[in-house]
Amino acid sequence: MNNDNDRDIYGDAIQRLDRAFEYADIDEEAVERLKHPKQVLEVSIPVRMDDGSLRVFTGYRVRHDDTRGPTKGGIRYHPDVDLAEVKALAFWMTFKCAVVRLPYGGGKGGVIVNPKELSRMELERLTRGFIAQIADFIGPETDVPAPDVYTNAMIMGWMMDEYSKIHRRRTPAVITGKPIPLGGSLGRVDATGRGAYYCIKELEKKRGWKPEDIRVAVQGFGNAGQHVARLLHGDGYRMVGVSDSQGGIYTPEGFDIPSLIHVKEESRRLQAVYCEESVCSTVHADSITNEELLELDVDILIPAALENQITAANANRIQAPIIVEVANGPTTSDADQILNQQGKLVVPDILANAGGVTVSYFEWVQNKGGYYWTEDDVQKKLHEIMAREFNAVHDLMEQKNIDMRTAAYALALSRIGEAIASLGTARYFAGGQV
Ligand code: NAD
Repeated sequence: MNNDNDRDIYGDAIQRLDRAFEYADIDEEAVERLKHPKQVLEVSIPVRMDDGSLRVFTGYRVRHDDTRGPTKGGIRYHPDVDLAEVKALAFWMTFKCAVVRLPYGGGKGGVIVNPKELSRMELERLTRGFIAQIADFIGPETDVPAPDVYTNAMIMGWMMDEYSKIHRRRTPAVITGKPIPLGGSLGRVDATGRGAYYCIKELEKKRGWKPEDIRVAVQGFGNAGQHVARLLHGDGYRMVGVSDSQGGIYTPEGFDIPSLIHVKEESRRLQAVYCEESVCSTVHADSITNEELLELDVDILIPAALENQITAANANRIQAPIIVEVANGPTTSDADQILNQQGKLVVPDILANAGGVTVSYFEWVQNKGGYYWTEDDVQKKLHEIMAREFNAVHDLMEQKNIDMRTAAYALALSRIGEAIASLGTARYFAGGQV
């Protein structure tokens, strides 16, 4: 979303491969293959609305690459969804899964809809209609969806139920991010924010800073943004700036994040915090725009909202020396160059937000095994993976003297290259896996 030109977002995404190729152990032809999604499906979904009228929605599902395993990736409901965006999101999933070494390739889906305009029944009919259209395309061993922007656990439950009805067998492993009673995993709700938090904790060890000296700003106060803010605040980090789609707030002393979450839940609008009696009496904050939030004088900036937020137009004005990308694609590739020239450390999205897909993988494993883990098990395993792969990417960055995004892509490319090479005769065939 937010993409002015359909082709830009995907074109921009694949540019990262050319930069990483020289540091990766992979065949050039394989990289060329990875520039093209393996399969793209467009469907129309007729929905009977509550007033008796008919509306036909458009949806997409893209499987980018499945060399390392079934494709995996969320389904987004948003009025600005388009095919270029879904392709870019599927592409990022391929590399994200390889960076954290999950046995998955990348996929993504989307429906062009403003879900806030639909009643719950309309939303359920749309969801079931979408699954009916893609039921032969997805499956526990081929393509496994999950939630993304404006889809949630309840919607995943409807999807699993519809797929199970069509295939006449209960199939929880076809979708992750489900409600716990329908086979969801403990620890999935805060997994994305927690994964980013573990990355920041590794940096803390390397840099030896004290949390109370570190000022943090978070753009986007939804699922991912709230949890990373909550965990950092719990360790004493100073959370000085927060924003959502309505605007932002700033205070140099730092916010009490649990009360912001409480007010956001109550009001559904962060700016209401500014004038609500209960919070106004506990925090003194200045109202700022989303643009101002990105340019604040802070130590860590966390974009956790949407794509294309840090661009060539504002990259020069970003003051934070460290940027942790919790959103997918918040930085454009030309902004990357500017940030790198300025010596900023960007922990890239394919690493920083990989906690979500990692716990989705745990959910899939639990569904297939029929044995469910404790929240403590989930968090320990997530911590182990995030710390291990953060350090692998950081080491490669230092060894090759490259930026962290290039290092993450190079590591992912080498792992995909290894999978292709282990087929032995892959060079003789133009096709891939199933
Ligand atoms: P969400 O819908 O829960 O929250 C999005 C937040 O961004 C909301 O608070 C919204 O008000 C805010 N927002 C929207 N437009 C904004 C703007 N212009 N400026 C500032 N804030 C704005 O979504 P989420 O699940 O938290 O996802 C956020 C980002 O993280 C997306 O890029 C998503 O793809 C990525 N992500 C999420 C997960 C996950 O598990 N939830 C996993 C990986 C990546």
